[in-house]
Amino acid sequence: MMAEAGQKVKAVHLKRDAYLYIRQSTLRQVFENTESTKRQYALRQRAVALGWSAERVIVIDSDLGKSGSTATNRHGFQRLVAEVGMGRAGIVMGLEVSRLARNSTDWHRLLEICALTDTLILDEDGIYDPSHFNDRLLLGLKGTMSEAELHVLRMRLQGGIMNKARRGELKMPLPTGLVYEADDRVVLDRDKQVQESIRFFFETFRRTGAASATVKAYREAGLLFPRRLRKGPHKGDLVWTNLYHWRALQVLHNPRYAGTFVFGRRRTRKAPDGRTIYKSLPQEEWHTVLPESHEGYISMEQYQENQRRLRENAQTYGLDRRKSPPREGPALLQGLVICGICGDRMTVRYHVRKPGIVPNYMCQRRGIESAKGPCQRIPGAGIDKAIGELLVESMTPLTLEVALSVQEEIQRRLDEADRLRNQRVERARYEAEMARRRYMKVDPDNRLVADSLEADWNNKLRVLTQAQEEYERQREADRIALDEKKRAEVLALAKDFPRLWHEPKTPQRERKRMVRLMLEDVTLIKREKITVHVRFKGGAAKTLTLPKPLSGVEAKRTSPQVVAEIDQLLDHYTHAQIAAILNQRDLLSGDGKHFHYLIVRKVRLAYGLKSRYDRLQEAGMLTRDEIAGMLKVSTSTVKRWRRHGLLRAHAYNDRNEYLYEHPGESPPVKIPGRKLSCRRRFAEFVPNQPQEVQYEA
Ligand SMILES: [Zn+2]
Repeated sequence: MMAEAGQKVKAVHLKRDAYLYIRQSTLRQVFENTESTKRQYALRQRAVALGWSAERVIVIDSDLGKSGSTATNRHGFQRLVAEVGMGRAGIVMGLEVSRLARNSTDWHRLLEICALTDTLILDEDGIYDPSHFNDRLLLGLKGTMSEAELHVLRMRLQGGIMNKARRGELKMPLPTGLVYEADDRVVLDRDKQVQESIRFFFETFRRTGAASATVKAYREAGLLFPRRLRKGPHKGDLVWTNLYHWRALQVLHNPRYAGTFVFGRRRTRKAPDGRTIYKSLPQEEWHTVLPESHEGYISMEQYQENQRRLRENAQTYGLDRRKSPPREGPALLQGLVICGICGDRMTVRYHVRKPGIVPNYMCQRRGIESAKGPCQRIPGAGIDKAIGELLVESMTPLTLEVALSVQEEIQRRLDEADRLRNQRVERARYEAEMARRRYMKVDPDNRLVADSLEADWNNKLRVLTQAQEEYERQREADRIALDEKKRAEVLALAKDFPRLWHEPKTPQRERKRMVRLMLEDVTLIKREKITVHVRFKGGAAKTLTLPKPLSGVEAKRTSPQVVAEIDQLLDHYTHAQIAAILNQRDLLSGDGKHFHYLIVRKVRLAYGLKSRYDRLQEAGMLTRDEIAGMLKVSTSTVKRWRRHGLLRAHAYNDRNEYLYEHPGESPPVKIPGRKLSCRRRFAEFVPNQPQEVQYEA
C-alpha cells in the first residue's frame, strides 16, 4: 500500500499542509469512545510516514461533540472545506473519511473541491486521489454507504420508539401532577398539595370557562401553581411559581391529565439552517392515543369539552356559531344572539352615543365573506332592556335557587382558596422542621456541615414566616370581601333578583353571567317589528315582539319644533343666518350641539325642506343672467347695480350669490358719468363691503 501511496503523494502535495479531521458526534461518545479518538490521532503518524513533517500536520477537532448530519453549526468541518478550497491542504485525513460528513451533499461537495484543488484523501483503508475516477467512485460510494448506515440506525431507533409508543409503554416526561411509580406505572403525584392544586385548576377552569380567567383567579387568590423540575441538579424537585396563561393552556391541552397516553402530538422537521421546527398536529393525526391508560385528574369527556371551550374562546377561530364567554362591554346578550334570518351567530358592535356606549347586534359574517352589507343590524339597547324585564318578571320562582348557588359558589371558592393557602403554610412548617432536625443531628464539631445546615434551617424559617404572613393577609382580604354586613347584603340582594338586577353597583359582567345562567340563546329577526325568541336553559321558550327602535340617526333626530322653525326661517334667511338665529334662541341640534350652517343644511336636506333658492325662484325672483338679459347689460353691471342699491336682490346662500327681484316698470338704465352712489334706490341692501366710488363706464 505504501508503494501505491508513495505514487499518489507528490512534491506538490508535500509542499502543502496535511489536515487531520477528528470528530466524535455526541458528547457522550467523546467521553466513552476514547479508543476511536486515539485511532484518529494515530493517523498523524501515517502522514509523517508519507513525508509530512509533524508540525505540518494540522489537527481540526473543534467539532468534537457535534453531530455530523449537517454541516451547519460545525465550524471545524466548514474550516476544513475552506482550507481545502484555498488550496492549502495537500491531504485530508480522517478515521473513516466518509464520516467527515454524514450527509451526502456535504461529502460530495468536499470531494469536488478536493478534486479541483488536487488534494488527497486518506483514511485507515488507504489513500485516494479524488481527481482519479476510480478513487472518486470509491469515495462517493463510501459516502453513500455512510449515509445509508445513518438512515438505518435512525430508522431502527425510531421504529423502536414507535413500537413502544403504540403499546403505550414509551416512557415520556410527565406533566406536573403525574409521576412514574417504581414499576413505570403512571400515578397521580403522591404530594397531596400538588394533587389538590391541579384539581383546583381544572375546577376553576370549569367555573370560569377561560384560561385567562383561571390565571386571574389564581392571581387574585394569591395562589401558586406547582411545577416539578425536569432537569438540572434539582431534577424532580417541586417548585411553586405563578400561573401564567401559556402554562394554563399547556395544562388544559395536555391529554395526560385525562389519563390518556398520547404520542406524536407534534411533528418536527429540520429547517435549512439546521433549526428544528415543531408543528402541532390536529388530534386526528396524533400517532397514538390510548384513553384510560393511567389515572387522571379529569375524564376524557371533560378534556374534549375543555378543548371545545378553548376553541370557542379563541376569537380568531373561524366557527361562527360559537357561544362566547362573557367579555367586557355592556351588550347583555353578547355571544348568545342568533340571526333569525340566516342562522349565524350575531356579533356585537359598540357605538358611542349620548347616554354612553350602546350595542348593535350584527349578523355580518356572510356579508364580510361576500363583500355585501350585513344581513341584519339591530340596535341592542331596547332588546337588552326587554330581556332584563323578562328575566325579572319570569325568574321569581327561580330566584332563590340562583341566589343560593351564587352564594354557595362564592363561599366555596373562598374556602377552597383558604385551604390551599393553608397547605402551603403547612408544607413550609414541615420543611422548616425537617431542616431543624437535620441541624440538630449533625455533629457540632463538623463546622462546615453544621453551618450550611443552620443556614438552610434559617432559610426555611424565613419561607415559613413569609407563607404565614401571606396566608394571614389573604385571609384578612377574604374576610373583608365577605364580612357579615356584606354577606347580609349579598343575601338580601340575592333574595330578590329584581333588585340585584337593577342594582347599579352590579357589574354588567355579572348581569351577563346571570343571563348566561338562565338563557340558552336568543334569536332575533328584524322586519316591521323585531321578534325576539328567547330560549331558557331547560327548554322553556318565550317570544317577544318589540317595536323597531329608532336607528342611531333617528335617535339623534332634531326636534320637530326646530325643524318647523328652520322651515319658516328659510323664507328669509340663509343657512348661516338661521344657525345664528337658532343659537341666539338657545336651541340645540338633535345630538346636543350648537347650530352651524352645515347642521342647518343637513336638517333641511334630511327633512326635505325646500331650499331657499327654490323658494325665491317660486316668488318670481330672477337669476343674474336672466336679469342681465332682460336689461340688456352685462352680468357685472348687474352685480354692480345690486351693490349700489339700484337692484333689489336676496342672498340664497352664504357665498354672496343672489336672486334678483323683478326691476318693475322703470328698470335702471346706464347713465354714463353719473356717480353710482348717488343713484341708490334700495337702502336696505347696502352690502357689508368697503365702499368704492364707481362711475358707469
Ligand atoms: Zn344573518
